[in-house]
Amino acid sequence: MTTTIIETLETIDDLDLLISADSTSAYAHDRAVWAAYDVPVAVVRPRTTEQVRAVVAACIEHHTPVVTRGAGTGLSGGANATADAVVVSLEEMDQVLEVDVEHRLARVQPGLVNDNFRAALVEHDLWYPPDPASSPWSTIGGNVATNAGGMCCVKYGVTGDYVRELEVVTGTAEVVRLGRRTAKGVAGYDLRGLMVGSEGTLGIVTEVVVKLRPLPPEPTTVIGNFDSLEDAGRAVALIGASGVAPSLLELVDRGCLEAVDAWRNMGLASEADAVLIARSDAPGASGEQEVAELLRCFEEAGATYTAASTDAQESEALYAARQLAFPAMERLGVVLTEDICVPLSRVPDVLGQLRAIGDRHDVKLATIAHEGDGNLHPLLVTPPGDEAAGLRAQAAFDEIIQVALEAGGTVTGEHGIGLLKRDGLGRELSPAVARMHHAVKAALDPHGIFNPGKALPI
Ligand SMILES: Cc1cc2nc3c(=O)[nH]c(=O)nc-3n(C[C@H](O)[C@H](O)[C@H](O)COP(=O)(O)OP(=O)(O)OC[C@H]3O[C@@H](n4cnc5c(N)ncnc54)[C@H](O)[C@@H]3O)c2cc1C
Repeated sequence: MTTTIIETLETIDDLDLLISADSTSAYAHDRAVWAAYDVPVAVVRPRTTEQVRAVVAACIEHHTPVVTRGAGTGLSGGANATADAVVVSLEEMDQVLEVDVEHRLARVQPGLVNDNFRAALVEHDLWYPPDPASSPWSTIGGNVATNAGGMCCVKYGVTGDYVRELEVVTGTAEVVRLGRRTAKGVAGYDLRGLMVGSEGTLGIVTEVVVKLRPLPPEPTTVIGNFDSLEDAGRAVALIGASGVAPSLLELVDRGCLEAVDAWRNMGLASEADAVLIARSDAPGASGEQEVAELLRCFEEAGATYTAASTDAQESEALYAARQLAFPAMERLGVVLTEDICVPLSRVPDVLGQLRAIGDRHDVKLATIAHEGDGNLHPLLVTPPGDEAAGLRAQAAFDEIIQVALEAGGTVTGEHGIGLLKRDGLGRELSPAVARMHHAVKAALDPHGIFNPGKALPI
């Protein structure tokens, strides 16, 4: 008699195994509710690397797909399950294993929540910069697997810039270490770099060594209201030319301001077509100089109102419109989040095209943007259950991808390909590069068990 995958998983010592639909349905999908998903056959919540390895070996034996999961905050369907899959949730591997103050390094487990990690570093006066807006929930493993960006990457870079070394369970159920702890090192292919951003398709990350920075001073927040997206775009160009390095440079457009007003009655949309929010975390006099320069750039570009915070409380208040924008849009309906990234010089033009696309498809479209990186998040909102509106939003989504490519940009700046952008990836990559992607997948996941059907071009 042949054994089932569940029977084999049951033999793994002390493994936390969920099989009732009541518990497994909570692991069926991430935050990309538009992508296909199903309730998995089982969910495992390993506590050790050895358990992860044994689960992968079991899945190879039974030809069972493995869907690795952090916190499920992904926005591209990367953690969405299929009915025949085992979900490997890393939520119980959530410890800081080591803080090496001398070398400014930390070694952590993948299920550690980003904000919890940052909080644990404060007592050492150390800082882990990558700060996706999902940092209160998303995990370091998920951040590594998506190469997450965030607010401060305009100055400090993205997750991959901080990853020194990874422990990974491979597609042959072996445990390997990729990369190294040293500041430099070029021995062999950069397999660490390959694993970063691989969206659970090449292996399961079970430990992460990251580099750290000293804790920066409290930032000063600077805001500018603009009558047009073009003026806001000009301000960003002026900031770029000035040589100032803001630690955050975000845009919130009128559609999002209206949503925030409808929720919190802040009177923002009546005053601006777009708000730019910048921050300086430079210390002392150089910080004051940076703030003055940011204000000058805003004013020279035609800002109708500018302000700079004088204390931490004011700083948070000025930042509120950005923080509230996404949840405010979610209150209006089902949100399909785009994530294109275009050259900075094309941002104002592309923002204008996005509005036209929303109008043409009769879909509510509003944009938040990591403006300083040219990373735009048009949010397409449809009433729950309105299938016709859903189809119109999907058509708008596809057109936005085309606009990004024609502007010399990319289909995803930070959220990844998952299920939602495979077609877009196929359009972005040349046939030869697409073949290289499939070759890497076949080499590192020879049994084809890791997140099949995801993150590769079609
Ligand atoms: C409100 C909100 C704001 C957001 N803001 C940002 C932002 O500013 N910047 C940004 O980049 N993203 C943002 N995101 C998207 C999302 O939070 C990130 O993609 C995040 O990195 C996902 O982490 P997670 O732990 O939730 O991973 P999950 O969603 O669980 O998984 C994401 C992908 O990684 C894989 N994976 C997870 N853990 C591992 C592991 N240990 N080993 C191998 N593969 C693994 C999964 O299979 C999946 O493909 C936002 C999402 C929300 C809901």
